[in-house]
Amino acid sequence: MTASSYIGRFAPTPSGHLHFGSLVAALASYLDARANSGRWLMRMEDLDPPREEPGAQAAILNALESYGFEWDGELVRQSERHEAYAETLNGLFNHGLAYACTCSRKQLEAYNGIYPGLCRNAGHDQQDAAIRLRVPELEYHFTDRVQGEFRQHLGRDVGDFVIRRRDGLYAYQLAVVLDDAWQGVTDIVRGADLLDSTPRQLYLQELLGLPQPRYLHVPLIIQPDGNKLGKSYRSPPLTTDQATPLLLRALRALGQQPGNALRHASPRELLDWGIRHWDATQIPRTLTLAEAQLH
Ligand code: GLU
Ligand code: ZN
Repeated sequence: MTASSYIGRFAPTPSGHLHFGSLVAALASYLDARANSGRWLMRMEDLDPPREEPGAQAAILNALESYGFEWDGELVRQSERHEAYAETLNGLFNHGLAYACTCSRKQLEAYNGIYPGLCRNAGHDQQDAAIRLRVPELEYHFTDRVQGEFRQHLGRDVGDFVIRRRDGLYAYQLAVVLDDAWQGVTDIVRGADLLDSTPRQLYLQELLGLPQPRYLHVPLIIQPDGNKLGKSYRSPPLTTDQATPLLLRALRALGQQPGNALRHASPRELLDWGIRHWDATQIPRTLTLAEAQLH
């Protein structure tokens, strides 16, 4: 491998199996890393045990392996990173950058998910409370490699957001920023459903003095009727016998053009073809892509 400073990653949540949309995101992240002679890391985002499906972690890793993916280094689990999250959270709390919120779901119902700051100056202690990060009244923006310029006003569009839930579970926004920095990730390639989480992550990076990675958000695969895969109904798991057709389909969804001669290629051959021919500029510049499911 030639020297490269690129570090990418795939970060599945084990709340269920991988579906076609996760394959598209994994493939984009993998090909972009390897085409740049980069490392590709694997991180299990197991922050929420109550929502974890038993066996999902193993099923996800097995599916990725049977589709030919190889990651570098040891798998990192967020469930083993709680000390780091706690340390950062306490620092933010002690500096007054985060505060405890005791609002009930019912109290917040009327605000459409944008927290109105009710507990900002209440001085609640951490016990039995959610911890929220104060956001500045500022617009954050970045240039996504596929989606282009994206801007969001944190005060108006997001509000003070939760970094630790009342039940003690750490929030995705905090964990993802700390782990990407800790693992030295330079390039984040993931689904466009996370585009509007990115400004919150930029703010956290700024606050914590962490480097800002490059971002590439691939279109979210939806059903032809407009429903999201894996959310509105149970989309089929990625089975081993479908590896070749599904990888071909995922390559095409990403705007790559594997010829018909590849229709009997092995998963590994398809990935190698994908690395050699990877052209991120061909990825459709849309937030969603309607794709019929293969069964
Ligand atoms: N764990 C997240 C998911 O499965 C992805 C997080 C990320 O890529 O930043 O949707
Ligand atoms: Zn509150």
